[in-house]
Amino acid sequence: MHDTMHDVINPANEQVIATVPSTSAEQTDEAIARARAALASWRAVAPGDRADLLRQLSSIVRERNEELAQLEVANAGHTIGNARWEANNVANVLNYYAGAPERLFGRQIPVPGGIDVTFKEPVGVVGIIVPWNFPMPIAGWGFAPALAAGCTVVMKPAELTPLTAIRLGELALEAGIPEGVFTVLPGKGSVVGQRLVDHPDVRKIVFTGSTSIGEKVMADCAKHIKAVTLELGGKSANIVFADADLERAAATAPYGVFDNAGQDCCARSRILVQRSAYDRFMELLEPAVQGVRVGDPSAESTEMGPLISAGQLQTVRSFVPDDASIAFQGGCPDGPGYWFPPTVLTGTESDRAYREEIFGPVVVVVPFEDEADAIRMANDSEYGLSGSIWTRDIGRGLRVARGVETGNLSVNSHSSVRYWTPFGGFKKSGLGRELGPDALDAFTETKNVFINTED
Ligand code: NDP
Repeated sequence: MHDTMHDVINPANEQVIATVPSTSAEQTDEAIARARAALASWRAVAPGDRADLLRQLSSIVRERNEELAQLEVANAGHTIGNARWEANNVANVLNYYAGAPERLFGRQIPVPGGIDVTFKEPVGVVGIIVPWNFPMPIAGWGFAPALAAGCTVVMKPAELTPLTAIRLGELALEAGIPEGVFTVLPGKGSVVGQRLVDHPDVRKIVFTGSTSIGEKVMADCAKHIKAVTLELGGKSANIVFADADLERAAATAPYGVFDNAGQDCCARSRILVQRSAYDRFMELLEPAVQGVRVGDPSAESTEMGPLISAGQLQTVRSFVPDDASIAFQGGCPDGPGYWFPPTVLTGTESDRAYREEIFGPVVVVVPFEDEADAIRMANDSEYGLSGSIWTRDIGRGLRVARGVETGNLSVNSHSSVRYWTPFGGFKKSGLGRELGPDALDAFTETKNVFINTED
């Protein structure tokens, strides 16, 4: 039935852990046809009943937290602590958007001659294309609000990390969500992903991944005037002012970039430190980096696991050539597995490692002079996703936050993602916002209806 099968590898030991079918273009078309057929009945489910189904799925995901987390540890090399958080995030996001079907308000707008009302209609079949770096949360940020809006969903996980997505598709059926409403299709981006983008019956694409593929997805969606949300790359700055709590800034900086082995679009992979505090910060950063516990991701105490693949390891290595200016490095296991140690480089604003997204545990530290210089350096990037500002002066924290051209900033913290708040990027980091109170706007069309009351 399937043309080919694909081996799924555990990146911590290079063992094959599963073999998954690669969906063909024809099978993708069939799934899209089923999603389109399911649309009329799904959007007609009473709002309270649709809410109950999403809550039911949320509860099941919560009950299966450990199973889902263990799958992610084995498939993506995520630490068990992170993987539990990620499965829980799916449950939370489902629960949050379960509140939406009953609150999908339109407006009544005063007009002469009658009554005018707006409706938020589901956009139709939604295609969700998920990368390998956060397979569960990124899936949930797409399918939970899409289903809440009354859309049906066809979702393609990354070829490297399909296992949790496949399981979430099964759990949706277990929760009572009808066949065809939420379909997971493992397979290649160039086949399944491309077909979702090209198929005229898919009315919206949610894409998370590289900026280069994102550009192509957007261009191909334009042929059908298809709506698109893009969450792409990043090169976020962690800006440390001399007046900050330097101990805390240095102790937390490694986790702002090395979490998920740096394979995070929000990774603060440039640390900008005010020159007068630079030496002290580096003194404090060294033990913090060397203290990051890298190893078996299934061990409770592990803080960083392997990279996702041999290819990703090679890419990351290319940013640390033999003559790289390494300030210090942490440790990591020897093979098997795709290991790379936490690495801190010093450098200049023209270095490749300073300018390009690395998507690995490598950070560059560069000094700045003053507030204006910090903002200029942070903004000197084609990306604009995230960033952190460390200062005890809250006025400065806010000024700099307003000056930095990125979508998600945190002051005296490295957190970017909260499901209550909007998430997305400026510039080449993306288009549109996920999460937060307005996420359903991305999955609805506004329909305006005028009712003549005069004659
Ligand atoms: P890609 O952008 O290639 O992949 C992201 C998703 O898009 C995957 O599901 C992929 O499928 C799919 N895809 C690939 N080609 C197409 C296509 N023509 N049409 C539709 N979908 C497609 O990212 P990579 O996995 O190759 O990672 C490369 C780099 O991208 C990373 O090193 C990192 O810098 C960046 N990246 C950024 C992410 C972010 O969160 N912002 C996430 C992932 C990567 P498949 O791979 O299964 O074939």
